[in-house]
Amino acid sequence: MDNLLRQRYEAVKASIPAGVDLVAVSKFHPVEDLRTVYDAGQRKFGESRVQELLKKIPEMPSDTQWHFIGHLQTNKVRSIIGKTTLIESVDSERLLAMIDQESERANVVTRVLLQVHVAVEETKFGFLPEELKAYFCQHKYENLKATHICGLMGMASNTEDKNRIVSDFNTVADLYSEIKTTIAPELRGFDTLSMGMSDDRQIAIECGSNLVRVGTAIFGERRY
Ligand SMILES: *Cc1c(COP(=O)(O)O)cnc(C)c1O
Repeated sequence: MDNLLRQRYEAVKASIPAGVDLVAVSKFHPVEDLRTVYDAGQRKFGESRVQELLKKIPEMPSDTQWHFIGHLQTNKVRSIIGKTTLIESVDSERLLAMIDQESERANVVTRVLLQVHVAVEETKFGFLPEELKAYFCQHKYENLKATHICGLMGMASNTEDKNRIVSDFNTVADLYSEIKTTIAPELRGFDTLSMGMSDDRQIAIECGSNLVRVGTAIFGERRY
């Protein structure tokens, strides 16, 4: 089992070009499996539920880097502040404000990505592209005291239609470049474009992703 897991991890690693980073999405998988992948060299792990993240943190080596990738409720923000390397799934200004408030209170800087809503129906979470443009055009990020916006995260529609997937990823990638080069070029450290999961990561990388979030292709099917 360990060997198979290791082989799958190595295969995923090998499929990712230089300059693209990998988050091993370990949600619903036992900590033994995370350790196997950690021992193979992986440091970034992605979790989508606060309870599960908090349970796993003390069970993994302290240099494990935790990416939060699920919908985060404002009332749970306080419990994870200071414990993540990156919160990839900031999907509203209200959540962003809460993260900022709690980070300031805890005297830490929290790194986040803003999640863009492009996929049809799969999730109702995320900023609409126009909302996001307005947010940056109005320089609202300048009000943040203890939060650093490092880039964008997007998910494509869950479909076999490759054209649709490409168009979803391009929407997010275009928005990312526009913010970076035109709307807010003064924004420092805005350098992360998180797109692509097990099935669509090659397409995402072709569309400019520099961070892929891969679960199933490494750990196998999740048992919910
Ligand atoms: C679960 C999840 C993934 C990983 O999906 P796989 O298809 O298992 O690779 C990636 N991103 C997000 C936001 C997720 O919730």
